[in-house]
Amino acid sequence: MRPKEKTKVFVTGPLPGDAVARLQASCDVVVGGGVASAAFDDHAETLHAIVSLLTDRIDATLLARAPRLRLVANVAVGVDNVDLAACRARGVAVTHTPGVLTDATADLAFALLLAAARRVAEGDRLVRGGQFPGWSPTTLLGVPVFRATLGIVGLGRIGQAVARRARGFGMRVLYTQRRRLEEALERALSATWVPLEELFASSDFVTLHCPLTAETRHIVSRERLASMRAGSVLVNTARGACVDEAALADALEHGPLVAAGLDVFEDEPRVHPRLLAQPNAVLTPHIGSADRRTREAMAAVAADNVLALARGEPLPNPV
Ligand code: NAP
Repeated sequence: MRPKEKTKVFVTGPLPGDAVARLQASCDVVVGGGVASAAFDDHAETLHAIVSLLTDRIDATLLARAPRLRLVANVAVGVDNVDLAACRARGVAVTHTPGVLTDATADLAFALLLAAARRVAEGDRLVRGGQFPGWSPTTLLGVPVFRATLGIVGLGRIGQAVARRARGFGMRVLYTQRRRLEEALERALSATWVPLEELFASSDFVTLHCPLTAETRHIVSRERLASMRAGSVLVNTARGACVDEAALADALEHGPLVAAGLDVFEDEPRVHPRLLAQPNAVLTPHIGSADRRTREAMAAVAADNVLALARGEPLPNPV
């Protein structure tokens, strides 16, 4: 940046809270309609920073249009929408929003787990459809949550928050990830590390909390779904492409799964038509972090990173 030049920031969509106002106090800010908008085209050449959403694809082609870009501040903890290698090659820093959305996302994962297990959405549709004839001993029988075995794929920030919630439900917690946690932390979380295949075969509930990477794309494959326990439940609040959705639809239709709780989809906002047709799939529109306080905090963290760039200070949340 030239001396005394204001940092020019493109914020790709409206943000909750005062993040944009805080940026405007010292930066030159444009709030546009995504990186595919005409507004982005108009300003790309002069931008120093982009505050991006997970719906914005930041790749080499985009970087080539923004020669002065120094920072991509993603308003999400996941950065699978950003080509990190291309950013590194161009010397563009990438930041994200870890921590502030952990509890909100863990809450939603547990909400989906409970709703899928106890057929809450099906029950709601039945009542609204005038199909509730009164109590019956056989209506909408679900699967028990209390004392069931929960398998967590990715015991990071959100996975650990889910494990803490599971303790309240007396659940046995298994987990898998590439590096085992320290023993003291495993003990504190009452979580037992098992290999990936064993986790799928031994859990009543499997919940995903890994990032989407080349390694985790379709980590829930047809074979792994087939290896799951009869009557088991899959919960996904990670990223849609971690799951082979066609195989999941088969596993819900023909077993072994009885239900799924999904907040994320492979080709958002499109949802696989066979999942839409499954009454035993509880579907939410990517709202894992969607409580007001959390979303304001995420926007604030992204703004903090841009303001650090503007002041020439170290970035608080580099990826
Ligand atoms: P985190 O603290 O980095 O935890 C991710 C965990 O995944 C780590 O423990 C990591 O352990 C594990 N992992 C990475 N690669 C793996 C692999 N190949 N196999 C198994 N485990 C693997 O991240 P977080 O803050 O908990 O967030 C997790 C993800 O949740 C984000 O990346 C994002 O995609 C998603 N998310 C979704 C929403 C939503 O709205 N639905 C909201 C927030 C976050 P190792 O490195 O040891 O393998």
